[in-house]
Amino acid sequence: MLEKNLTRFALPKDLKLIDIKTSSKGNIWVCEKVRQPFETCPKCATPSDSRAGRCKVKVRDQGVRDEALFLVIHKHRYFCKNCKKTFTEPVSLVWPRRRTTQRFRKALAKDCHNFSNLHKVRIKNKVSSGLMYKVYYEQIKTKLRERLTEKWPTHIGIDEHFFKRKRGYSQFVTVISNLKKRKLFEVAQGKSNRTLVEQLQHIPGRLDVKVVSIDMSSPYRSFVKRIFPNAVIVCDKFHVLRLLNGAIMSAGKNIEGHKQKLKTRKLLLRNRKKLDYFVRSEIDHYLKDKPELNAIYRAKEQLFELYRTRGSDRASRKLDTFIYSIKNSDIKPLRTLAKTLSNWKTEILQYFQNKWTNALTEALNNTGKLVQKQGYGYKSFDNYRLRFLSACFF
Ligand SMILES: [Zn+2]
Repeated sequence: MLEKNLTRFALPKDLKLIDIKTSSKGNIWVCEKVRQPFETCPKCATPSDSRAGRCKVKVRDQGVRDEALFLVIHKHRYFCKNCKKTFTEPVSLVWPRRRTTQRFRKALAKDCHNFSNLHKVRIKNKVSSGLMYKVYYEQIKTKLRERLTEKWPTHIGIDEHFFKRKRGYSQFVTVISNLKKRKLFEVAQGKSNRTLVEQLQHIPGRLDVKVVSIDMSSPYRSFVKRIFPNAVIVCDKFHVLRLLNGAIMSAGKNIEGHKQKLKTRKLLLRNRKKLDYFVRSEIDHYLKDKPELNAIYRAKEQLFELYRTRGSDRASRKLDTFIYSIKNSDIKPLRTLAKTLSNWKTEILQYFQNKWTNALTEALNNTGKLVQKQGYGYKSFDNYRLRFLSACFF
């Protein structure tokens, strides 16, 4: 009775354990397929009860206590009168033309997900790397299939990060996140309008998208206007605030002859409101005889000031005044800033209506980069996409 229970736990209903052997490669369980009154032909689905000899197959199963396990299954061969051909009985654990059971494949994919690198999985499970890669990506694909019918979320964030360099050109990956659920939504290759539309237009529900948060990139803006006509675009706060960082750095370089010392550099980029009195006076002292750097620094502080404003009307007035004050400045970076700000005015002011930022997408970019690093870089975008999605979902 005990033995019978144990078998029922370890094997499916249609297999009966006959014998247990050991070999250098692992344990071997010899089993027999429980006979049915008739079997169905896999080609034409005609039931057949005329047997045509016996056969046995050896398949790899999920191991017990870290030892490999093989099943030797004795089966019958049947003859189909309709097709005039023989076929072997199917076993519930093993798919046709496979030498591994489904639960072994699942366990292998789980190891691939949990281990720090795939080489360790290969050593532990004693499988070829070909099988491992095939099984892993196949299992992720099956898991992600249920997401195929998923609709566009109402609030999304779009951003890009580096993928690889090919023939001297950098390739990028676009990340789309669900801001409300705080989760990754989809990953697409490239960042141009045309490629994005090609890859993403099949997803249903694009007219229900209400808010899209992007950084200041024109391709994304035209993409959003084209594919989500009912959405408002919000320009990410972080990207607006760092518009002058480059100018501060290069102005400092012109003065010092090299990049400024790390300490002053960091202090100039930080929000003045968060520094204490002595540090602020130190900065003022440093900037006293450097009019150009000083002007850029004050303009950067005004950007911070803009984001401290409450209410979109007040912010709009403040932004207009600010643009007007720097429009005809002698300093080139400030003139560029005025142009950029007036170009993105509506999107920047949207922030004061609904306060959405793209911080989540930036965090997801980091996850993507970690996945790349863990796999020592990816050649195929499809595999990278599967791995990235699985890292964020399972
Ligand atoms: Zn048949």
